[in-house]
Amino acid sequence: MNPSPHMSPDQFRAAAHQLIDWITDYWSRLDELPVLSRAKPGDLLAALPAAPPEQPEPFDALLADIDNLILPGLTNWQAPGFFAFFPANISPPAVLGELLSAGLGVNGMLWAASPAATEVEMRMLDWMAALLDLPAKFRWSGGNGNGGGCIQGTASESTLIAMLAARHRAVARGADPSELVAYTSTQAHSSVIKAAMIAGLARAPDDHSHLRLLDVDDTFALRPDLFSEAIEHDVAAGLTPFYICATVGTTSSTAIDPLVPIGELAHRHGAWLHVDAAHAGAACICPEHRGLLRGVESADSLCFNPHKWLLTSFDCDLFWTGDRAALTGALSITPEYLKNAASQAAASGGTLSPAVDFRDWQIPLGRRFRALKLWFVLRSYGAENLRAYIREHIRLATWLEEQLRADPRFELAAPRPLNLICFRIAPRAGESHSDADARSRELLNRLNSTGRVYLTHTVLPTSAGPRYTIRMCIGGTFTQERHVREAWTLIQQFA
Ligand SMILES: *Cc1c(COP(=O)(O)O)cnc(C)c1O
Repeated sequence: MNPSPHMSPDQFRAAAHQLIDWITDYWSRLDELPVLSRAKPGDLLAALPAAPPEQPEPFDALLADIDNLILPGLTNWQAPGFFAFFPANISPPAVLGELLSAGLGVNGMLWAASPAATEVEMRMLDWMAALLDLPAKFRWSGGNGNGGGCIQGTASESTLIAMLAARHRAVARGADPSELVAYTSTQAHSSVIKAAMIAGLARAPDDHSHLRLLDVDDTFALRPDLFSEAIEHDVAAGLTPFYICATVGTTSSTAIDPLVPIGELAHRHGAWLHVDAAHAGAACICPEHRGLLRGVESADSLCFNPHKWLLTSFDCDLFWTGDRAALTGALSITPEYLKNAASQAAASGGTLSPAVDFRDWQIPLGRRFRALKLWFVLRSYGAENLRAYIREHIRLATWLEEQLRADPRFELAAPRPLNLICFRIAPRAGESHSDADARSRELLNRLNSTGRVYLTHTVLPTSAGPRYTIRMCIGGTFTQERHVREAWTLIQQFA
């Protein structure tokens, strides 16, 4: 028997090469694989042994099972025909960055726990702030000393920690924690409701006693007039508006909430404004799209996900705040076993370059060295190529939208600021909306059953009531013009 249970260095090297070969081959085969998995619930579970092995198995056996068991159970998110939800981009440099992070195996919970993990991350947040042209107050360098950013796992976590920071600040200013009210639009991501449930502001998704979900205009953007009315009403009732979540690029239709008037409202009432730009933030690296973030200087925090549309594998959500004291006030707690000289010096303001402990910026204690993959992506592509990447997807989306607009069988369901097209079947003369929507649903099912493409749906509020809407988001790493043209051919064929 092997005296050591571990892979030898040579075994590891060989297995790693095999695995990289496997991934490279997978990427080259993506165009041939069905986008949507055809597995039935329980298929894979039935094929996996009920008990773990007592004896070691060779790596080859694992690789074989990746082909035989795992592959059929995958919906291939990186397939060029994947147009569902929002994308979850990867790229070769991002994957290598992930691999290196795993190989280093450090935990960057404290600055002292691995200084490089914290400082590369600080620099990456400033690099991205520069690419987005964010105001200085969100930056580590050149800011006002109360701003900065870090990587969160997901936009949902950013929504939650922003809410916790907002509550901390409101209570520190004398508000009664039981009288706080949060505001967002009906089109905001469900993570706002979930955050309210976790924070104890809502007992259930439909408990609106401390969370107002306000109607939107006909572009599906929040209406400042309704926010203003709701806030005045709550203030008159003795409640404290403490948190507003605005969305730049809603999940259903990439609607853009107007940050300028909502920022003024937040400022007037001392409420925290969080901007959720999870998907659309990536486009703001292009100067021609920065207008989407106009007014962001009045926000207290914002986030966007390079793991959606900027070639950086999940998980990578960038969170910035202009009030880090409120955030760490809400999340910092120091047990004896985490005390260390660098953190203490920072706390007493005694060092030249104070140590930042990112465990005070998030829910968990431990954190992976996620900044590596972003560093790899930004350096391997360069900003110019990243902008070109975004622009190509928007060009393809513009093309597809033109085809749909020119074909009377379809109607466009929402404005298209970026790379998401919302459309549906137009009712024939005399046909009801619900019958036309049933045909849209049928169209979507038929498209997805081809295995060539995967699109998803939403429901949007209209003057005629809620309408079924097909969503097609063009944002895949491997998606090219021919894939969009093929999708359009299929859409016409099945309509
Ligand atoms: C995708 C999305 C989210 C949730 O993203 P996670 O990172 O998976 O939590 C939140 N808000 C918006 C607007 C999104 O599009």
